[in-house]
Amino acid sequence: MAVLVTGGAGFVGSAVVRQLVRAGERVANLDALTYAGNLDSLREVTDDLEAAASYAFVRGDVADAPAVRRAFEAHRPDAVVHLAAESHVDRSIDGPGDFVRTNVVGTFVVLQEALRYWRALPAEARARFRFLHVSTDEVFGSLGAEGHFTEATPYAPNSPYSATKAGSDHLVRAWHHTYGLPAVVTNCSNNYGPYQFPEKLIPLVTLNALEGRPLPVYGRGEQVRDWLFVEDHAAALRLVLARGAVGETYAIGGHNERRNLDVVGAVCDLVDELRPGARPRRELITFVADRPGHDRRYAIDASKVARELGWAPAESFESGLRRTVAWYLENRWWWERVRSGVYRGERLGRLEAA
Ligand code: NAD
Repeated sequence: MAVLVTGGAGFVGSAVVRQLVRAGERVANLDALTYAGNLDSLREVTDDLEAAASYAFVRGDVADAPAVRRAFEAHRPDAVVHLAAESHVDRSIDGPGDFVRTNVVGTFVVLQEALRYWRALPAEARARFRFLHVSTDEVFGSLGAEGHFTEATPYAPNSPYSATKAGSDHLVRAWHHTYGLPAVVTNCSNNYGPYQFPEKLIPLVTLNALEGRPLPVYGRGEQVRDWLFVEDHAAALRLVLARGAVGETYAIGGHNERRNLDVVGAVCDLVDELRPGARPRRELITFVADRPGHDRRYAIDASKVARELGWAPAESFESGLRRTVAWYLENRWWWERVRSGVYRGERLGRLEAA
């Protein structure tokens, strides 16, 4: 199978590319290489002669229709996995324009070019073609203390990021219902794992703990997120791509609800264990002003993808977090290069700074 992956130099996208190539598929990775895109995350593929032969990188912007069209024509995919997005909620508060452009307009452009390409395929290839749109559970808004998001939960996005992802989900739905494009949508909970840009909670806290810097916790750290190891998400996406029903959506999550404060504490304990320091890293926890409009709780009921496609995560939160923290401690080469560039770990997403 030839797969066009958008955003394959990002955190989730690079896991998808690595897994697809390992599974013997041909992959073309269309990525603009924004601050979040990093080809170092694909070294496992590009440094291996055999793997590199089934991989192509195309630098391009998903909102640039001629560039997207050229990628379709050059690589003739059997499927698209659309991940390219602006993904950081704090950045969406400071600068929502890029989110509208990439997440909404970019998805529109990829859909239009996919439709054009799909319509011109021979009947058999047209029947096989899939468009997998990768989205987030944040489109559903915030939960109270009880309940779970399912595929039937009404959309209620609260941040500029989740609003643009919600818009993109609706476009995909409409392109399926109106034009018949064989599309499938996934809505996944918070991912963590190797190669995540260190502005997100778990890598940020791991590196700050290692360097003895303050560990910022928003508000009182009471927000609850449902964590999933990124390789488990990528495996779910491959399964949905292979066997998901056209026109359906699948909620994906790890059944690992944790308060942010408990996540930070668990990272501290792992860093203490793996790199003992003079004082417990928990002493570095610093409560900072909460994110405006911060959603209280997300939790996913992933029973549909388990029941219909037989998906189950391989990692528990404890095993996945241990792997993740150990990976950051052992892969300084990756994050030192990231940190020496545009991003220096500063606080973003306070309204007064916008
Ligand atoms: P990321 O920020 O790590 O990566 C995004 C990638 O998209 C980068 O490689 C970037 O260069 C690329 N990109 C950005 N704008 C682009 C443009 N205009 N044209 C082409 N490429 C562009 O994000 P991520 O965490 O890997 O998330 C990937 C996708 O998965 C997103 O659509 C996100 O909504 C979704 N998702 C992420 C999570 C999570 O916890 N990380 C959970 C559920 C869903």
